[in-house]
Amino acid sequence: MVEIGTPFTARGKKALLLGSGELGKEVTIELQRYGVEVVALDKYAGAPAMHVANRAIVVSMLDGDALRRIVEEEKPDYIIPEIEAIATPTLVALEKEGWNVVPTARATFITMNRREIRNLAAVELGLPTSPFEFADTEQEYLDAVSRIGLPCVVKPVMSSSGHGQSLVREESEIQQAWREAQEGGRAGQGAVIVEGFVDFDYEITLLTVRHIGGTSYCEPIGHYQKNGDYQRSWQPQPMSEVALTKAREVARKITDALGGYGIFGVELFIKGDDVIFSEVSPRPHDTGMVTLISQHLSEFALHVRALLGLPIPEIRFYGPAASRALLAEGNGKSIVFSGMEKALATPGTDMRIFGKPEVIGHRRVGVMLAEGRDVEDACAKAEAAAAEIKIEVSDVAE
Ligand code: AMP
Repeated sequence: MVEIGTPFTARGKKALLLGSGELGKEVTIELQRYGVEVVALDKYAGAPAMHVANRAIVVSMLDGDALRRIVEEEKPDYIIPEIEAIATPTLVALEKEGWNVVPTARATFITMNRREIRNLAAVELGLPTSPFEFADTEQEYLDAVSRIGLPCVVKPVMSSSGHGQSLVREESEIQQAWREAQEGGRAGQGAVIVEGFVDFDYEITLLTVRHIGGTSYCEPIGHYQKNGDYQRSWQPQPMSEVALTKAREVARKITDALGGYGIFGVELFIKGDDVIFSEVSPRPHDTGMVTLISQHLSEFALHVRALLGLPIPEIRFYGPAASRALLAEGNGKSIVFSGMEKALATPGTDMRIFGKPEVIGHRRVGVMLAEGRDVEDACAKAEAAAAEIKIEVSDVAE
């Protein structure tokens, strides 16, 4: 039986959110709706989820000792990782001691390391993936590239959002890809994966939720990536019945292997009726922000229902919808949005402003959402509304 008591009392529930970005902010709002206290962590002050959490702690979540101290002090009922860059071995140890990590500590540990997740998906489960090899040194890398062949994709073993990732089309690009992977990897220098380039027709995120009543799937989300970051997503991605059935089978196998309760973003490449596994996030996915307008329970609401051990008897899909990332460019701590009156004047549009406290270079600072007659209409509406938004970045006059 699930019991949720008054917040801040002995029987109240408390969540420790590891990572306070825009996805964590929506998760926090959903937790608050169930009367769960939220303590939000991130490496910088003023992160989006901190604006809506009960309390905030600024700490490097890669510091395992610091993370352990906070867990022992706060005694959370739920530890909810919202980013990849966390001291996951500490989470594994904490889980063994009885702390509840969402969906499981092992899932967060395996999915942050491309070696671990490939080993699970391709070797243990036999799921179709791109051909791949790992390399620890430059010589091993050159040998791997010659075996895999061109074009290939080179990525640091530990990285996300396209950091240090390159597409190698010709021999002259091989050296540069190694250097970029060395600079872009999370642990600094280190191992890389060399993947055969998959000439897919389209790629999807299949949001898959493991909950007390079983496994449920959202409608497939199509998306467009640039520089490893998502720009646009839409739902439902049209696909054949055969491909959709296969996609659900792959999602089922990988999420069952990772276990626990929560939402997973299963990233798949589709070519004809073939489905190729790419990656999985054991948490809400950025391309899934479209569900803020397309479903009665967004991916964030589903995550929270699942992790609280509450039932999800249905996922009601409202119809074709799209999301468009709002990107700011410049340097400064004053980020001013305008144009909302025009953008939101079109029926069926909505938006989120994340409230990020600073922009250095490029940063995703908001998202435009739209419903449409069909996916094309929804994408066009989101695009047109996004074009109305001006984002001015400057320094705050002290
Ligand atoms: P990842 O960081 O692994 O999710 O990759 C980011 C994006 O790069 C993917 O969403 C794809 O658009 C593209 N990509 C990654 N790996 C491959 C591959 N092996 N073949 C083709 N495109 C890829």
